[in-house]
Amino acid sequence: LKSGVSKPSPLPDITLDDVGGLQDEMKEEILQTLSILKDKDRSSRMGIKPPKGILLYGPPGTGKTLLAQAMAHELNANFFTASGSAFNEMFIGVGASRVRSLFQNARKQTPAVIFIDEVDALAGKRKPHGGEEAEKTLTELLVQLDGGHDNDGILFIAATNRKDMLDDAFLRPGRIDFSFQVPLPDMRGRREIIDIHLKGKNISEGVLDSIDNLAESTSGFSGAELQSLFETASRRALRNGQDTIEKSDIDYALDRTILGNTNRPLQDL
Ligand code: ATP
Repeated sequence: LKSGVSKPSPLPDITLDDVGGLQDEMKEEILQTLSILKDKDRSSRMGIKPPKGILLYGPPGTGKTLLAQAMAHELNANFFTASGSAFNEMFIGVGASRVRSLFQNARKQTPAVIFIDEVDALAGKRKPHGGEEAEKTLTELLVQLDGGHDNDGILFIAATNRKDMLDDAFLRPGRIDFSFQVPLPDMRGRREIIDIHLKGKNISEGVLDSIDNLAESTSGFSGAELQSLFETASRRALRNGQDTIEKSDIDYALDRTILGNTNRPLQDL
């Protein structure tokens, strides 16, 4: 495949503790799903079918990729990843054969997680004049997802910002068994994400004392934006020859991030 997904990518050392801001209920459901997958025999004795496919949906940068990596890590699985747009091709059958080889490779290296980001580019609603190539690729994905016992040991995880654009046949139980919404973090969530990203960094007392304020003043920020905020602050500290990140570095980064974020309502500026 174009983007090298025929080999599993090295799994970063991400666990569920690295994903901040998950609602308690969702965390509970994810843990339960993982325990079903970890002990399939026990689950099947109780009549529970292990899930085959999971959808994560929500705005960009909220940790969907992170969550997929953490799940793969918890399952000790090889991680195969591709973007939905990597399957969009002009020539009939090329996208479909990429889908096939992705699943075939994963089947050879179970346990495996197949993670497809931007899945709407691959499994979008079929349009009357959508083109034969796109139609063939989606059909192949459905065929592969229906692989029955061939898919034992494979968990399929898809992510999208646009659940409403996905084809109903793709979303059918047995293909996608659970959909989890990954929203923008609330105040408590932002606080958790800030803690995760400040862990192990040299920060001044001033920064420590103002963490609650920061969580408050970053309403509307995604996890990715919080991460980038601290990166900007760290870079400024480094440029100025400091050993620790000061409150002034955070304020500087905050100004820059808020100004750069055109999605934020004007009254928040
Ligand atoms: P997209 O929809 O744009 O693909 P995504 O939801 O998959 O985005 P990630 O790629 O997981 O988002 O997030 C990018 C980076 O932002 C992560 O590597 C992490 O550093 C940070 N981040 C995002 N969400 C969280 C979170 N919930 N907790 C901790 N860090 C986060």
